[in-house]
Amino acid sequence: MTRLLEIEGLTAGYGPVQALFGISMTLDEGEVVALMGRNGMGKTTTIRCISRLLPHSGGSLRVAGQDVAALSAPRVARLGVGLVPEGRRCFAPLTVAENLTVAARPGAWDMARVCALFPRLQERMGQVSRTLSGGEQQMLAIGRALMTNPRLLILDEATEGLAPVVRQEIWAGVRQLKAEGLSILLVDKSLKEIASVADRAVIVERGSTVWQGQIAALGPDLTDRYLGV
Ligand code: ATP
Repeated sequence: MTRLLEIEGLTAGYGPVQALFGISMTLDEGEVVALMGRNGMGKTTTIRCISRLLPHSGGSLRVAGQDVAALSAPRVARLGVGLVPEGRRCFAPLTVAENLTVAARPGAWDMARVCALFPRLQERMGQVSRTLSGGEQQMLAIGRALMTNPRLLILDEATEGLAPVVRQEIWAGVRQLKAEGLSILLVDKSLKEIASVADRAVIVERGSTVWQGQIAALGPDLTDRYLGV
């Protein structure tokens, strides 16, 4: 079993403002792990560190066994980290097909497989991505990440702000990816959907890991205390 993520005592911040004070977590190949916590607790910052979009100031961060401290963001992407950032960024003036093509790296994923996962994209191949609906843009953002043939897919708030029916399509896609054995790190607010797909959860509070365990062990005591639901 390959350990895709091994994070120990991670600290990071934005200029003088420290945001992470000690994040520790692991993710093994084939696992789906949910990174949970209230707003502003450090989930996105952790993901930025994993992707090397933000340098960490302390602790250690290994991706597929490699210490990433000296690596650039593109190098980490080549190690197999496929990030779908918050806000579903695509190249707005490009078509769906172009967005997918520019992301492509050799491997098992191609446009046909992305369209099998999200059939709506098939109908929109020639459409410029800025004119897609929010849900379609999110599907495209996930499709772009898959075209890089990641070993680890990271989804940051992939269903935020979307209509319920579209959310369901995206969750169905995520469940299919899990069934195919893809390793996934996800941030989302829907406990119900997380419970349906994640193997384990990691809870962060004020920049530190405060709990991690099997998703089945995430009872009301923990969700009340750390997630405010
Ligand atoms: P959310 O669900 O609201 O996105 P989060 O758990 O992902 O929350 P982060 O976005 O990681 O939280 O934020 C962690 C802390 O870092 C917060 O205190 C936030 O205000 C701060 N922070 C985030 N981005 C920046 C930035 N670009 N500049 C300065 N501080 C930031």
